[in-house]
Amino acid sequence: MGARDTVIEEYTAQLQACMYQYSRAIYRSIKDLIEVKEGVAAACAFIEEQIEAGALDGGVARCRATTRKGKPCQRTPLPDRDYCPSHQHLERSKVAA
Ligand SMILES: [Zn+2]
Repeated sequence: MGARDTVIEEYTAQLQACMYQYSRAIYRSIKDLIEVKEGVAAACAFIEEQIEAGALDGGVARCRATTRKGKPCQRTPLPDRDYCPSHQHLERSKVAA
């Protein structure tokens, strides 16, 4: 195994540690605000919102469109594009404008 592989492994371990700390920080910041019996569901919903808002995306591209329900589209955009196949017409209209 070369030095480059070691660096990548260390970087991956660092990222995983950061994600863990981040999720713990979210939990700590909301745990006093929520009812105990609804705590788990509320925490899950909060974290899902964060994920949908792109807070936890490690550079993973997401379509920039918003769905009819007002939530960000979760699909992967086309290569070198900002939108997924379902929303690619939005990009075209933006360019045309
Ligand atoms: Zn989309």
